[in-house]
Amino acid sequence: MGLIVQKFGGTSVGSVEKIQNAANRVIAEKQKGHQVVVVVSAMGKSTDALVSLAKDITDQPSKREMDMLLATGEQVTISLLSMALQEKGYDAVSYTGWQAGIRTEDVHGNARITDINTSALENQLQKGKVVVVAGFQGMTDDSEITTLGRGGSDTTAVALAAALKADKCDIYTDVPGVFTTDPRYVKSARKLAGISYDEMLELANLGAGVLHPRAVEFAKNYQVPLEVRSSTETEAGTLIEEESSMEQNLIVRGIAFEDQITRVTIYGLTSGLTTLSTIFTTLAKRNINVDIIIQTQAGDHETGISFSVKSEDADQAVAVLEEYKDALEFEKIETESKLAKVSIVGSGMVSNPGVAAEMFAVLAEKNILIKMVSTSEIKVSTVVSENDMVKAVEALHDAFELSKHPSAVS
Ligand code: ADP
Ligand code: ASP
Ligand code: MG
Repeated sequence: MGLIVQKFGGTSVGSVEKIQNAANRVIAEKQKGHQVVVVVSAMGKSTDALVSLAKDITDQPSKREMDMLLATGEQVTISLLSMALQEKGYDAVSYTGWQAGIRTEDVHGNARITDINTSALENQLQKGKVVVVAGFQGMTDDSEITTLGRGGSDTTAVALAAALKADKCDIYTDVPGVFTTDPRYVKSARKLAGISYDEMLELANLGAGVLHPRAVEFAKNYQVPLEVRSSTETEAGTLIEEESSMEQNLIVRGIAFEDQITRVTIYGLTSGLTTLSTIFTTLAKRNINVDIIIQTQAGDHETGISFSVKSEDADQAVAVLEEYKDALEFEKIETESKLAKVSIVGSGMVSNPGVAAEMFAVLAEKNILIKMVSTSEIKVSTVVSENDMVKAVEALHDAFELSKHPSAVS
């Protein structure tokens, strides 16, 4: 007998029928003799619906009230799933994030879990109950409700699995596993049998929405065995695990992409030792997340800087820089929106120097202009026009033969 954490995402609990289906997946594990903790998301697109209700009232809702609002979505699902389990003859109890002992830092909208007191959950498990926990939410030390960022129910599940020392954490979703790229955009994408924590973390950070990045971080730090699998089919999904147990011969294992990127370029900066630090400290103080940064030197005294941000942050980034125009002494700022980031990820890149060059050649052959580049040991990211995004992903998927991936199964 083991302890299993199962997580069902929004589409997997989007209707009464789907909730019944999720209940049956829970029962299947109970029948094997396991203790089961279930984490659920809000039904279907109900979190989006709550966001748009708030937008109908104000453009700038208070972050505290947003958390209060969004945390209600998951509570609908925990009670309904518990009722479904009870109706099928299984003892189940629903818990909000705070009832489940999930503490977070004092940040609204994107809080990190700091601690989990599992005693209440363990009590219920001892009594043989299935515990159904609301994902995506927690509470600060001051009893304020927080949420963990969009997609954060994955993180609740993995963090609970780590805290309870579960034998396994299964993420049930609307695709049968982690694919070489998003199967909704690229038809030839293939399901991977396995992927390393590091590769999955890069893919998740670079826009592959199938797992919340912090969930992968928790899984890696606490060595939680994680599987992404279909909520409707019973086939095996994708295991996220340490590199050692996987094939190592693959240079590129997956492609991630993200649209709504804006490039901000500052022209005519006076070169100085502190120019860069002043700009980026100023932006950081206003909580503007900057991604790729490129500096160019024109002559001895003039510097140009480009950086990319999420488009929703672009106006604020420009406003902040304009505010400091006198101190920063620049000539002008230009922005280019409707850009996208396309990234290739694979741990085999570390020892293969030609991968970036090959990526650039493939994009050039398709007449896709690369506007920015950034690399790490296991990824290369390029910024291209949003209109070229899917074409770029398809071309790279073909060129790196990902549909013929040896560890992939269709
Ligand atoms: P859930 O509601 O279950 O949390 P999400 O919508 O958050 O589901 O995540 C699943 C979606 O992730 C899929 O429908 C798919 O479109 C998207 N996705 C992006 N990249 C990948 C990938 N590499 N493999 C599988 N799915 C991906
Ligand atoms: N319901 C939240 C969202 O839609 C959290 C989640 O689904 O993981 O982002
Ligand atoms: Mg999700």
